[in-house]
Amino acid sequence: MKRSLIGLTREEIAEELRLVGVPDRALRMRANQLWHWIYYRGTTSFAAMTTIAKGLQADLDAVFTLERPAVAAAQCSVDGTRKWLLALAPGQEVESVYIPEADRGALCVSSQVGCTLNCRFCHTGTQDWVRNLTAAEIVAQVLNARDAIGEWPSPKEGRMLSNIVMMGMGEPLYNYDNVKKALAIVMDNEGIGISRRRITLSTAGVAPMIEHVGRDLGCELAISLHAVRDDLRNELVPLNKKYPIQELLAACRSYPGAANSRRITFEYVMLRGVNDSVTEAKELVRLIAGIHAKVNLIPFNPWPGAPYACSDDEAIAAFAEVVNRAGYSSPVRTPRGRDIMAACGQLKSASIKQRASARAAEAGAAA
Ligand code: SAH
Repeated sequence: MKRSLIGLTREEIAEELRLVGVPDRALRMRANQLWHWIYYRGTTSFAAMTTIAKGLQADLDAVFTLERPAVAAAQCSVDGTRKWLLALAPGQEVESVYIPEADRGALCVSSQVGCTLNCRFCHTGTQDWVRNLTAAEIVAQVLNARDAIGEWPSPKEGRMLSNIVMMGMGEPLYNYDNVKKALAIVMDNEGIGISRRRITLSTAGVAPMIEHVGRDLGCELAISLHAVRDDLRNELVPLNKKYPIQELLAACRSYPGAANSRRITFEYVMLRGVNDSVTEAKELVRLIAGIHAKVNLIPFNPWPGAPYACSDDEAIAAFAEVVNRAGYSSPVRTPRGRDIMAACGQLKSASIKQRASARAAEAGAAA
């Protein structure tokens, strides 16, 4: 089987090249050339690499591949949101979602197949099978999206895939090494070149890892807060039992850059009658006092069998008003791609479910 060069550092690419007989003195230069073809131009075939002699192209092609994971399903929402189900291995699939705006767009990237956190309002948490994605699989989601929207070579300006949000399936800080490696590749200026300011990592609150994110990546940080009291947050985000609200907020307070222009985003899912009162909005403002922050209110996105409903518009508006009056911007996140189960918290398990029902139908037909 051919080995993939995707998801490797330049040094690792050089090492791969050494193993196939590229002379030591040429390793760095060759690794840089490959980097340019893979990440700046999006090339998938060695034969297209015109700065590399035909003989070496063939040698590389004999052992290496730049193939993307197979797209098992591709869907497009009425609002233009696109979702891909990528087949990584038999039975191991992951979703990414592209959310276009008029003059830019964000790719929502997954870090795990499934998730271990079991947040009660999140569909991904109901999925039975979980594993970490490799750095290659994380980077491949970006390559796949760039292929699909035809954005090669990496444009300097006017990109339609301008932002990355680590808000897909999984908890990125439970797969930190691979996420870190993948994002370093995505940020690299000689390749995809999406700056750390345009990358947001969202966590359910793995407090001790937050300082690492600041030090290693310096990207934007989003915290899935969702409740202002530990008893309720324990229920909604069980990880809170391990890292309660005060510990989480302390980690946020020391996130570098929070002091100057950088703002931390607090995500707050609006669950009808559960966490959406004006009292809770006031408590939220009190909790985050002193943190340079904005509060992103996320209308709950329903999924089959979900134990919650979305707050009504008036409750969301009243909540936003309190937060806004306290000096925090409080945008309400427009649900995107709900019709294809691509909105926040709707990812992946739907695909498994569909496939399970398809299997059942097949079994029924066979019987
Ligand atoms: N594990 C990380 C990354 C997932 S980001 C984290 O928890 O932050 C996905 C965001 O969508 C999180 O804020 C998550 O809490 C939120 N979410 C999950 N299920 C949702 C739902 N059904 N409706 C709206 N938002 C949801």
